[in-house]
Amino acid sequence: MQYHSTRNPEEILSGREAVLQGLARDGGLFVTDSLDGCQIDPATLTGGYHDTARRVLSALLDDYSAEEINASVEAAYSAKNFSSPDVTPVTPIGDMHLLELYHGPTAAFKDVALCMLPQLMSRALEGTGRKLMIITATSGDTGKAALSGFQDVPGIGITVFYPEGGVSAVQHLQMATQEGANVAVCAVRGNFDDAQTAVKALFASPVTKDLGEIGVSLSSANSINIGRLVPQIVYYFDAYRQLLQAGKIKAGDEIDFTVPTGNFGDVLAGYCAKRMGLPVGRLVVASNANDVLTEFLETGVYNRKRTFYKTISPSMDILVSSNLERALYWIDGHDAARTRARLEALKSEGVYSVDADLLAKFKSIFGCGSVDDAGTKDAIREAWETTGRLIDPHTAVAWAVARRERRAGVEMVVLSTASPYKFCRDVYTAIYGELKTKAADEGAQAFEYMDALADNTGVEPPACLSGLRTKPVLWKDVENIPDLPQYVLAQARAKLA
Ligand SMILES: *Cc1c(COP(=O)(O)O)cnc(C)c1O
Repeated sequence: MQYHSTRNPEEILSGREAVLQGLARDGGLFVTDSLDGCQIDPATLTGGYHDTARRVLSALLDDYSAEEINASVEAAYSAKNFSSPDVTPVTPIGDMHLLELYHGPTAAFKDVALCMLPQLMSRALEGTGRKLMIITATSGDTGKAALSGFQDVPGIGITVFYPEGGVSAVQHLQMATQEGANVAVCAVRGNFDDAQTAVKALFASPVTKDLGEIGVSLSSANSINIGRLVPQIVYYFDAYRQLLQAGKIKAGDEIDFTVPTGNFGDVLAGYCAKRMGLPVGRLVVASNANDVLTEFLETGVYNRKRTFYKTISPSMDILVSSNLERALYWIDGHDAARTRARLEALKSEGVYSVDADLLAKFKSIFGCGSVDDAGTKDAIREAWETTGRLIDPHTAVAWAVARRERRAGVEMVVLSTASPYKFCRDVYTAIYGELKTKAADEGAQAFEYMDALADNTGVEPPACLSGLRTKPVLWKDVENIPDLPQYVLAQARAKLA
């Protein structure tokens, strides 16, 4: 398997190198031209999740040995990390299915990839003498999942920046209580875009030279790394395996998926699975009020110059869906020059478009739909009242869209991306209305909502969230944007030198 940038096919990297580097130097994303050569017949997946993971990972990352893949799978998807033996169980919601991706250490779907990425990175580092500092800006979920995944991994440090006051009370506590000798958590005075821009700028800042002197290079854990994309392909195959084994489908039957989408990483993994031979009918892209993808899939115009809405499904509040770049490359005949031109137009003018032929190709693969906050709350309440399932706001967006897009005779799988307890306040309010809280601060109020939701529904909160109540806050750092390079350098010196 060879990887190269979506914007230039000349420079070839192995899987390991692509995992370590994360993003191509020209700003493109790493892709392979050999997806179609990696066919996996889902009828031959007769083991459990670990077996499916080994098959998919060894097909796409063939420069890792069988022992390395096996050890990585065992470590990432251990019973300690994932509370369900199926890792990502498929369960019923009315006459559709939920693919539950939230049974990992931080109760969000990002765990599935961020438990594997450190395994792949540390094995690629072995014997190179190099050390890595992972820096990540987060709007909430990625930061905690990355901290948890990289905690105490030898040779790797991690620094997470989040916007001060810009994450939910539960998300803040999840990060501020993070343990580990190699981690750092810091609030940034600014919003998420400021933090994200500052983190990107760090990669080109003079501080990289100081880091180089102590043998440390920077890397990122965000969703453009192929080491995050590949583990996500696994659960599409495994969902099919589970439905086959449960007798819900016959070998060869097409199934549809609806995916709550932000950065397009999750749904792109479904596209990869389709190219690798999984009988996927349609991949339905579900958006919240930030419906830039719905507009693109309906009109062929991607326009990021639009109003940004802060919604109750914050992990989908995104106007630039980075991973769409890979879909453009793969669906438009693996053409790097055209991909580069589109992304350059997006950067300079804020917009690009695709012609009618290419739009038709996209439409033959992807469906779409969007739901605003009011529709999301209605969906949370209706799911509870009509199916007895408690779903988080992101899952609710997908479920609402899936109900519209459901095709007769085709099983529909809705990707469920977070525990409802991660957003307990919005979930509780959607079903029962506001609670008269007694606590003064948002953190303590969140636990009142957690308790009330559990009491009313009888659904247990995951221990990783209910246990936050008694965990000491370890991180109170707050920095201004210009001081981030020095902060990272100080952390690297303390933890990696
Ligand atoms: C990140 C995230 C999403 C969006 O996934 P993308 O890969 O960015 O499209 C949806 N739901 C939750 C809970 C998330 O954390």
